[in-house]
Amino acid sequence: MAILNEIASFWWLWFVPAVVQASVIIAALAIVDSFLRRRVWPQIRLALWVMAAVKIILPPTFAMPTSLTTPIVERVAQQPEVSMLGRLLGGIPLVPVAPWTPPGETAAITLATGVFLVWLIGVALCGLFIMRRTAAVRRTLVAESESDVPSWILTILQSAEQQLGYGHRVQLRISPRLTSPAVMGAFKPTIILPREVVERKDTREVEHMLLHELAHVKRRDLLFHAIALGIQTLQWFNPFVWLLRRRLIETIELCCDATVAARLEARSMDYRETLLRLVGRTQGLAQPHPATLAFFGHSGQVIDRLDWLTRGSGRRLKQKNAVAAVVGGVFAMTVLPMNESRMPCEFEVIDVAPVTVPVTAGESTGM
Ligand SMILES: [Zn+2]
Repeated sequence: MAILNEIASFWWLWFVPAVVQASVIIAALAIVDSFLRRRVWPQIRLALWVMAAVKIILPPTFAMPTSLTTPIVERVAQQPEVSMLGRLLGGIPLVPVAPWTPPGETAAITLATGVFLVWLIGVALCGLFIMRRTAAVRRTLVAESESDVPSWILTILQSAEQQLGYGHRVQLRISPRLTSPAVMGAFKPTIILPREVVERKDTREVEHMLLHELAHVKRRDLLFHAIALGIQTLQWFNPFVWLLRRRLIETIELCCDATVAARLEARSMDYRETLLRLVGRTQGLAQPHPATLAFFGHSGQVIDRLDWLTRGSGRRLKQKNAVAAVVGGVFAMTVLPMNESRMPCEFEVIDVAPVTVPVTAGESTGM
């Protein structure tokens, strides 16, 4: 029990301030993001949300002299009535490490150990649920889909790969169960087209759908998606982390549309039409599974996607990505470090005037 208490204490010292810090950043970003979503390029919003996700796995004691939040945290920490919040924001432990237990004596279970065990059970159940559901959906979709794809679709797939500059093979299947095309598998991606789309034999529509799903594969969105699911599993109890995953998926879709629009250039408005037609045909009912990224997923974001395509989201994509990388970097340096910038050893530094020691004749310094 003593060992368990000790592990739980170390977990608590890291985890509790990390949860509070991440929640504060996500809540603040969600407020700012509601103003940015129609005004700022999706690439910048994605960079900010990715950085908020990085914060979840950073140690709460992470400090940098460039931090904007450190002075606020330090000021809050000095006020006794809100010192607990200040201490948590600053990554300062609220509980000591488990008290030492003499050999031969049984240690009592601490509060930290109880919370640690509940968290651990939650992580195990949540992880198991996601893995089982992902495997079941994959099994069902693969079992009930056909790998026999008409040659005209394979030709379009090849052309789409060339347009995006993607040189790896992607599996393609046709399913009677899906209403929207989707892609799944972070390491072995499989694109699944609904049978209804294939039967319509609209080559332009299929090209747009394959470009969208291939863009997800090329951008490694499925890997991001899997990492976001992993983060959500670690903080299964935190609604702010659920919100973060949703915002990440929304901005990933907008950025994926921009990638396709950049390749289609003048034809990007046709792509917009395809998206609009699919929404009409499915009557906004297409619901993606967490393991997949669909051409049309959440009906709530369709307006944003159509709006950004109208505004030419594919133009000057390289410059937008470069600006987004800079904004993400600045956010990482100024907002993510929240701990006190002063290191404990700096408290001991005292200015001492240089002392001149008179050297008498005949003495040697020995150097
Ligand atoms: Zn998509």
